[in-house]
Amino acid sequence: MSNVAIAVDLGGTNVRCSVIDDAGRVAFDARQSSDAAEGVDAVISRIARMIDAAATDQQIGASVAVGVAAPGPLDPQRGIVRYAPNLPGWDEVPLRDRLEELTGREILLGNDANVQALGEFHFGAAQGVRDLVYVALGTGFGGGVISDGKLIDGAGGLGAELGHTTVNIAGPRCTCGALGCVEAYCSGWAIARHGQMLAGTDRSPALAAAAAAGEVDARAVADAAEDGDAAAAAIIQQAGLALGAALGNFVNIFNPQMIVIGGGLAEIGTPLLEPAEATLKQFALHDMLDGVELRRSRLGTRTGLFGAAALVLKR
Ligand SMILES: [Zn+2]
Repeated sequence: MSNVAIAVDLGGTNVRCSVIDDAGRVAFDARQSSDAAEGVDAVISRIARMIDAAATDQQIGASVAVGVAAPGPLDPQRGIVRYAPNLPGWDEVPLRDRLEELTGREILLGNDANVQALGEFHFGAAQGVRDLVYVALGTGFGGGVISDGKLIDGAGGLGAELGHTTVNIAGPRCTCGALGCVEAYCSGWAIARHGQMLAGTDRSPALAAAAAAGEVDARAVADAAEDGDAAAAAIIQQAGLALGAALGNFVNIFNPQMIVIGGGLAEIGTPLLEPAEATLKQFALHDMLDGVELRRSRLGTRTGLFGAAALVLKR
């Protein structure tokens, strides 16, 4: 391989590590549990060992850099993870410097959703596009914006937190403390929370049964909706409407050529995305809407890995 990068995608559940070249070929793919409960040092040591194993396996020299996608908010310039809701104990962690010490390699760090946007832009559904809005629908609602070929991340590298844009000033409380963020409707935790509240009423037999059998998560709500439970279907539809309103805002602000939707929650498909598309058409200014293409992610669960490689290969 000519020009390669080692790519790491750190999440609350798993750490993934790949070797990817500038043509998008994946030569190595490893995954381990993050085991975040073991603490910050243990997670960082595990990542360093995975990087070393990838380098040994692919006989990669010490001059090859590593791109790391990590949960944020983080400071990409100083290489510090400020905190991470899904990594307990992570508070102002100098992840870049720690990994550079352990591996002897140059480390480039980026916020996971911003990095995913780069992945779609360089290797995925948005190749050849100059202006992209990417949204990642997972446990949270992440986003990244590329304008005229450049990632927009603001003065401190903390933008673009698209999930915490308001779609209802009198809406439900979000994890960020504000009211009516799109994430408080259209995210894994929000759909689960609405489902759990519904399970305690007599309006959803399917979710009451799911609660009795275990935990009500977003998947349970989506399954109940698919099986014809009207109250569960209303939660998914509301999430889709909120998503569409947010996408309409993003179109009006950024005038993108393309919107790419990624993340596990997007697997719900039509019941979520159809109301979103209808609302987008209603809320976006029509002059800008005409040129916008709405697409699903092409890279799936590897979007973050490709983006991490892009941090190195496309800098
Ligand atoms: Zn919020």
